[in-house]
Order: sequence, then structure tokens, then C-alpha cells
Amino acid sequence: MTDYDTVSADVEHEEEIPEDHPRYQDLLTRHRIEKGVEKGITHLQGMHAEGRGSAFDYLLGEETIPSADAAERAAAAHLLLADHPVLSINGNVAALVPGEMADLAAATGADLEVNLFNRTPERIGAIAAHLREHGAEDVKGLEADARIPNLDHQRAKVDEDGIYAADVVLVPLEDGDRAEALNEMGKTEIVIDLNPLSRSPRVAEVPIVDNIIRAVPNMTDHAHELADADEAELQRVIDEFDREAALEDAENRIRSGL
Ligand code: ATP
Repeated sequence: MTDYDTVSADVEHEEEIPEDHPRYQDLLTRHRIEKGVEKGITHLQGMHAEGRGSAFDYLLGEETIPSADAAERAAAAHLLLADHPVLSINGNVAALVPGEMADLAAATGADLEVNLFNRTPERIGAIAAHLREHGAEDVKGLEADARIPNLDHQRAKVDEDGIYAADVVLVPLEDGDRAEALNEMGKTEIVIDLNPLSRSPRVAEVPIVDNIIRAVPNMTDHAHELADADEAELQRVIDEFDREAALEDAENRIRSGL
């Protein structure tokens, strides 16, 4: 029998966390964020974001609820139908799912772009290197030669041939101001956020209320399943998704536990 009391989030390697631990995903997530901070990938603020997410995930039952699965399928269809899809990477995303984001980019033909709230050349460089170590081929976000309108200077920086030109953007764990500004640019926004009341999922065309650790591999699975679908079928998957119902469903689940 595993002595769970001896397992702390303070393990050196994630393999030391027993997979049958009742809070396995939470410990794994915390561990990856701590390592991200140590490696200079994740800002200390990312720990607070992680704490908020963890509380919502606990209330969701730490599983992908059916409405989130439908959102992940619709998101995969959007990415496959897009002319220029881009997946945005911040410090928490890079720490939690670097290889999984590279896999999703490969499965959908999307670009990866580093985009930070607390932007320094060191962090951008560390994240780009970390993504490449995990299989990413091309990483955008280093040029930062365009600006999102109506946002303060630092947070507005994007690549002209990346997020600026994208028609569909995946912005996981995004702050509300940037999500709103991207929405005003007319982009189709897919947001992953465990808090259904947060502004970012509220402005998204596809709000995914799920832990990014589960959501991204599931989107990749859906993208593989839909790889041979024609445009009409992809459009049908998109049209069948009801964003209001998905947000309501997630909120009900969190409030009632049912
Ligand atoms: P907003 O600015 O949108 O009103 P906020 O200030 O609470 O929201 P941020 O700190 O900018 O949000 O972003 C963190 C968000 O990411 C939180 O809503 C949190 O629930 C969510 N989050 C944190 N970790 C995860 C995770 N592993 N998977 C999905 N969502 C997460």
C-alpha cells in the first residue's frame, strides 16, 4: 500500500509521484510549475494562477466533463479548418504541456508562439529552448514585430506573421484583457481555463473548462480522428457545439458537484 502521507509536491522527479495517488494530477501539475519557476520558464505569479486552477479542478472532479470533451472536439475542428492557426504559449503552459502543445501543433498544422504577460528576453529564450527540447520545430514570438491594438505595450507584443495574422488562436490560461483584445481583432478564440466565470472563457468562441494537462492531449486525439474529415463535416462539429451550454454546464458542475 502506498503511504500517501509521505508524498509531497516537493519530489525531485515527477516519476516519484505515484500514479495511483488520489491527487496525482494535482501533485504533477504543482511539481511541473515549481520546476518551471526553477528553470526560469514560469513567473512566480504562475503559482497563484495554478492554485486557482487547482481549486476549480478539485470541484470539477479532476476529470474532463462531457461538455469539455465536446469543446475540445470543436476546437480541433476549428484548428483544422483554419487558414493560419496559432497556439499561444505562456510560462504555465510551457511548464505543464510543452511536448503536448508540440504534438497538437503537428496534428493541426498550427504555429507555436511564445507570448508572455511578464516578458523578458531571458524567459522568452528559455521557453523557446524548452519547447524545442520537447519536440517543437518552429517557435514564434521572438520577433515581436506587431502589436495587439488597445493593450498596454508589454502585453501587446506579438509576431506579425504569428498571432497578429492568425485567424484561429488557442490561448490557454490567458488573462482577461488580452483575451478581450484578441477577440476585438476578430479572431476565433479558443480558451482553456478551469474557471468558467473568468473573462477569458467568457469571450471565447470555444471555452474549454478543463485542466490543460487533460485538454491538450484530448484535442490532439480529436484532431487525429478528424484528420480525414471534409470541410462540411468539420463545420458540422463546430456548429453542433453550444458555448453557452458548455459554460453553464461547467458552472453547474462546480457549484453542485453533480
Ligand atoms: P481573468 O483576468 O480572466 O478575470 P484571472 O486573473 O483569475 O482571470 P489569470 O491569473 O490571468 O486569471 O489566469 C489564470 C487562469 O488560468 C485562472 O482562471 C485559472 O483558473 C486557470 N488555470 C490555472 N491552471 C490551469 C490549468 N492547469 N488548466 C486550466 N486552467 C488553469
